[in-house]
Amino acid sequence: MPRDCIGEKYRYDLLQMSHHEIHRAHRIGWLRAAVLGANDGIVSTASLIIGVAAASTSQANILLAGVAGLVAGAMSMAAGEYVSVSSQSDIEKADLELERISIENDYEFEKEELAKIYEGRGLEAELSKQVAEQLMEHDALGAHARDEIGILVNASARPVQAALYSAATFTIGAALPLLVAWAIPGIQLIPAVAASSLVFLALLGAIAASAGGASIRIGAFRVTFWGAMAMALTAGVGRLFGLDS
Ligand SMILES: [Zn+2]
Repeated sequence: MPRDCIGEKYRYDLLQMSHHEIHRAHRIGWLRAAVLGANDGIVSTASLIIGVAAASTSQANILLAGVAGLVAGAMSMAAGEYVSVSSQSDIEKADLELERISIENDYEFEKEELAKIYEGRGLEAELSKQVAEQLMEHDALGAHARDEIGILVNASARPVQAALYSAATFTIGAALPLLVAWAIPGIQLIPAVAASSLVFLALLGAIAASAGGASIRIGAFRVTFWGAMAMALTAGVGRLFGLDS
């Protein structure tokens, strides 16, 4: 689960309380993982299906390659996410432990260090000292983690959840071209998979761009362009190494 969702309730209360601009940063984590996963699923599976279809006319071979691509891709996404979130969490845990020991061994030094950070952010020297003192009395490790290291102590990484999330979004993306290939066999298959996948990608890019407050047209064009490139290349490779020729 992307880390920045942890503070969502807190941000919501703040927004309700004081002003009206809509911050989108808290959506980025979820969105980015979902778009990346689904985008990978569509592009890699559609390209695989088109490549195999360009080389072989057997519907069974094409669907088999599509299903194998879906499973392999979902597993590799899950493995990659699990490893990256776990190692990120290991690094953060080690950093926190280092900080905890340093606070235990040299509290006064750590307090001065924190005050310097607040002074650097624009607070007066005297006020910085007071803020550092009170925040350290309240939660010394939390204050240093947040303001010195830049991590949230209670936002624990969930590698398994992140892995499942990535595998699920990949699978949803990959299932789209696979369903089209299953529903439209024969000579219509390649144009149908290519066209529908480009539409899915454009939609995905548009949704991601609009949720992130960016240009929908550019967002849609970006993912469609790379998707088209990938499908064209694999079709070329499939034609070149065609099994039946
Ligand atoms: Zn420190």
